[in-house]
Amino acid sequence: MSGKITLTMIKPLAVQQGFIGPILSKINENGFRIVAMKLMWLTQNQAMRFYEVHKERPFYNDLVKSMTSGPIVAAILEKENAVEEYRKLIGATNPANAEPGTIRKLYGSSLEANAVHGSDSDENAQIEADFFFSKLECF
Ligand code: ATP
Ligand code: MG
Repeated sequence: MSGKITLTMIKPLAVQQGFIGPILSKINENGFRIVAMKLMWLTQNQAMRFYEVHKERPFYNDLVKSMTSGPIVAAILEKENAVEEYRKLIGATNPANAEPGTIRKLYGSSLEANAVHGSDSDENAQIEADFFFSKLECF
């Protein structure tokens, strides 16, 4: 069964570069509904918890550092088959390998500064949505 929601973050560099609007436009044009959204600056502890699945990876510390370098936008997006559809829209993890027209190709600049996060499974989408938002903040 494919789920209806995914969790995205617009990463610090993309926020600093003024790409919140263009990225939200892409999300809108591609038929996702925004269920919840906030602008926030993650603490080191919060970023470490969010990326706990990657804690054994060599890039974990750098990832946490870059994700706490400025404010991010977190949002829950709704669409049929949301996780897969959104990963298609954002493109490959490394912007250099992302298809033309994808969010990471358009607004990412490196593997680390790849503009956005997108959940990788329905189960993680729900875990990540609950990490950022209470039921009261979802519409
Ligand atoms: P995301 O989870 O952010 O949507 P992803 O699922 O495509 O991206 P993951 O393997 O989950 O990729 O990695 C999480 C994030 O860690 C990536 O978005 C990227 O910014 C960073 N990352 C992944 N691999 C590397 C690497 N080899 N070196 C540096 N950073 C990396
Ligand atoms: Mg991932």
